[in-house]
Amino acid sequence: MAAQIYYDNDADLSLLKDKTIAILGYGSQGHAQAQNLRDSGCNVVIGQRPGSANYDLAVSHGFEPVSLAEATQQGDLVNVLLPDEVQGDIYRDQIRDNLSEGNILMCSHGFNIHFGQVSPPAGVDALLVAPKGPGHLVRAEYEKGGGVPSLIALSDGASEETKALGLAYAKGIGGTRGGVIETSFSEETETDLFGEQVVLCGGVSELVKMAFETLVEAGYQPEMAYFECLHELKLIVDLFYEGGISYMRYSVSNTAEYGDYMTGPRIITEETRTEMRKVLKEIQEGVFAKNWILENKGGAANFKSRRRIDKDHELEIVGRRLRKLMTWIDAKEY
Ligand code: NDP
Ligand code: MG
Repeated sequence: MAAQIYYDNDADLSLLKDKTIAILGYGSQGHAQAQNLRDSGCNVVIGQRPGSANYDLAVSHGFEPVSLAEATQQGDLVNVLLPDEVQGDIYRDQIRDNLSEGNILMCSHGFNIHFGQVSPPAGVDALLVAPKGPGHLVRAEYEKGGGVPSLIALSDGASEETKALGLAYAKGIGGTRGGVIETSFSEETETDLFGEQVVLCGGVSELVKMAFETLVEAGYQPEMAYFECLHELKLIVDLFYEGGISYMRYSVSNTAEYGDYMTGPRIITEETRTEMRKVLKEIQEGVFAKNWILENKGGAANFKSRRRIDKDHELEIVGRRLRKLMTWIDAKEY
């Protein structure tokens, strides 16, 4: 079944005229959504803890940030744009008791609501409006007159009015200019986790690392291995993005295309498919969510160690050096 997609004409911004929108957190999504809404004529209050760069940024953008609790009290729509792993505790301590009946509790990723870390009280609908891009793009596209495609989802039993307000909100951030796809909390959360684990972050990183290691172990120069296995990936992904897999195959040499057909299925095998299905099941059953929540309760020891170890991988060391020499790249040091 084709997805339902909403555009500008399906959304009525005037529904937000007498409403206050509380944006909790002035990070990547918060700073973008708040400014877009304000430029669209909406009333926005920022909840942001003091003493951080994000607080100063909000002030420099002309907002007067208040505490998360205070912003929640003022808001008719309360959008939690805090890191996913802190939302559960902050919701219980600073948000829940400041919501009133008829308020709408919003988010840009369904993880906490879907896995029961945030459960809105009776009389409060949950609403997801999620731009499919990072905050700086949400802001930049809006300023250019465009918008980043977004998703909308409603909690079970949410009213038609909540949906209309959600579409108005999506219009306020520019989302309906790009198109707003209707989904559910479970679909958004589970596909998002699956995509980032299997392809976007987990799958691609391991593939690149393993290929690099194989070449270096066989005696090839690490610089060559870096270019072949990591650097050139961008060219391929750009072709995917512009015209799908067929366009990539049309653009590369026939030799590369033949190698693609012969070797791809030997690298990503039926064993990989079996593992993908297992990963999906663990996501659906909340096993991944539980592990990630417990990891954070334990001070994220495993997470921080993996981050430290992988940072010193030979691929990363070679890459840092080579990127400095490629002056056209806006090289980032992390
Ligand atoms: P950021 O990490 O960029 O921003 C987090 C904000 O939360 C900052 O204002 C930060 O303030 C505040 N914050 C962090 N920890 C605490 C705390 N313990 N107490 C109070 N405030 C805190 O988050 P994102 O914008 O990336 O993510 C927000 C939501 O948007 C998430 O649900 C995410 O999944 C979703 N999303 C993100 C996308 C992205 O590309 N970034 C894309 C689509 C959805 P301070 O400066 O004081 O730390
Ligand atoms: Mg994601």
